[in-house]
Amino acid sequence: MQPTYIIRWRGEKPGTHEYKFEVRDELWREYPEGGVLRGRVEVRVEAEVKGEREVRLEVEVEGRVVVECDRCLDECELPTAYKDEVVVPYEEGEVDLKQHIYESIILGLPILRVHEDRAQCNPEMIKRINTD
Ligand SMILES: [Zn+2]
Repeated sequence: MQPTYIIRWRGEKPGTHEYKFEVRDELWREYPEGGVLRGRVEVRVEAEVKGEREVRLEVEVEGRVVVECDRCLDECELPTAYKDEVVVPYEEGEVDLKQHIYESIILGLPILRVHEDRAQCNPEMIKRINTD
């Protein structure tokens, strides 16, 4: 596992290089505004070194995270999957993908953050909300 979310290409030959790692728990604590409490997400980065001009990185995240259910406020686990591309000038030598990876995980979540099956919602909470 890599120590950080930094991808380095200085000294790499032109061509495609693949990196795989898992998101660490510190990430959720670093971006509390995203609302992710825990999670297990795999990251795959395919870095295409194009001569000495630019590096094209295809960043893919896939996994499951725990967030607060918008309907009953209990914790609920949801899938996330997202893929996009980052282009960085070759001379930078490296890129820190931490924030990009976090944003991808958030973008990959369903729009509604609720238990996938309504029956999984906390019945006590639903009752309380409905009688308010
Ligand atoms: Zn719920």
